[in-house]
Amino acid sequence: MLNALCIDLEYWFSAEEVRERAGDVADDQIVESTAPILELLDAYKVKATFAVLGAVGEKHPELVKAIHSKGHEIASHAYSHTPVYALGKEKFEDEIRRSVDQLSSLTGGRPIGFRAPTCSINNRALWAMEILIKYGFKYEASLCPVWTPQYGVPGAPLGRYHPSLTDLSKEDSRTDILELPLTVINLGVKFPVAGGFWLRAAPLWFSRWALTRVNRTRPGTLYIHPWETFRRTPRLENTSLLDSFVLYYGINSTLKKFEAMLRTFQFAPIRRVLGL
Ligand SMILES: [Zn+2]
Repeated sequence: MLNALCIDLEYWFSAEEVRERAGDVADDQIVESTAPILELLDAYKVKATFAVLGAVGEKHPELVKAIHSKGHEIASHAYSHTPVYALGKEKFEDEIRRSVDQLSSLTGGRPIGFRAPTCSINNRALWAMEILIKYGFKYEASLCPVWTPQYGVPGAPLGRYHPSLTDLSKEDSRTDILELPLTVINLGVKFPVAGGFWLRAAPLWFSRWALTRVNRTRPGTLYIHPWETFRRTPRLENTSLLDSFVLYYGINSTLKKFEAMLRTFQFAPIRRVLGL
């Protein structure tokens, strides 16, 4: 079973909880924090999808070009890392236009994949899917099909599907874009298992067990942010216990866990897993 692998190429201060409190950021660490991931992908001969934040592509075009030249897929992670519903329709379209222009000029081809900042694709911003279709996107891969405190579209299918443009939790085969939801497991309660905080928080044996179980019926998606695997990621001091747990738990051991997942499972860029 081929699973999807996605790296969200964003700064350690891109997340909502951090952005406003990080202050004047001199060192974005993006090149140093991405290098160990690229080395592991080379070592295990794995290609991945890199969902590039526009702000990163603007400041570090050479990094995006280098990743693309290694054969990885380049997708869009929007521009400013503002949740889609908070941007509103017009600003979202503006970010998508800029992101497509930027990534096209860096790679010579249009991106076909999108991952929304903070999994913010939901029924509060139904126009987002229509805008993605308008700009030629073939898939969206960040909808969370269960409720979580931060995000989610409860009731959405767990595997790939064509989402209805009037209710993203429903399927409509006429829609011209595929959704590949976050990988969740159903143990009586459904919850995400294979990326970001969920990967950092779970012990390795659980992540392996969960993805193996998911693979009985469908591919999973493993996603990670470079700052989540980088020991030198600055830890903000003025955060609540809960925020600091969600943001920083497990960072020091996540690169090893990521490598163990590469050793155990087969991965490919999202577009390949979807056959696009
Ligand atoms: Zn992000």
